[in-house]
Amino acid sequence: PPQRKQRKIAIMGYRSVGKSSLTIQFVENQFVDSYDPTIENTFTKPWKVRGQDFELKLVDTAGQDEYAIFPAQHSMDMHGYVLVYSITSVQSFELLQVLLEKIMDMTGKITIPLVIVGNKTDLHRERVVSTEEGKRLADTWKASFYEVSARSHESVCEIFNRLITEMEKADSSNGNE
Ligand code: GDP
Ligand code: MG
Repeated sequence: PPQRKQRKIAIMGYRSVGKSSLTIQFVENQFVDSYDPTIENTFTKPWKVRGQDFELKLVDTAGQDEYAIFPAQHSMDMHGYVLVYSITSVQSFELLQVLLEKIMDMTGKITIPLVIVGNKTDLHRERVVSTEEGKRLADTWKASFYEVSARSHESVCEIFNRLITEMEKADSSNGNE
């Protein structure tokens, strides 16, 4: 039988944007309302995309800010990144620009699979970052873009399906299996 491909994905972004909520919603199909924000945890998720079995290792980071030094372990063996902001926080959106620059510096890769995610679409009355702004940022970095809600399980699986598709493309262009 074909082997499970192991792939490691970092979930990064400002504090409270919903990194843990998205990860747990994807892994366990439930919305956990109060998850310790200081914990960095790795979740394992078996996942199948177009007939290929994967074992995903999701590194739910404790969160970054403008001044955080990019941790080397987050650049070493990651196959892709999910970069999360909240549509209710300009600060969290602006942080992604900084984070993207750091990722590029650390990995030195021209094409690293990235998905930019605007979370908390259920809080539409509190929206301060427009869909267009999100798209524009993603276009600049040649990243995929989704607006989602961890709370209402809106478009959460799409993030990972897309990222895996991008990782597979990057793999084959690097001549790997
Ligand atoms: P993290 O620090 O990025 O891991 O953020 P958490 O996952 O701990 O979430 C921070 C807060 O935002 C918690 O109170 C969550 O319940 C809430 N939250 C996360 N995702 C959503 C969402 O999609 N909608 C709403 N309304 N709240 C969310
Ligand atoms: Mg968290």
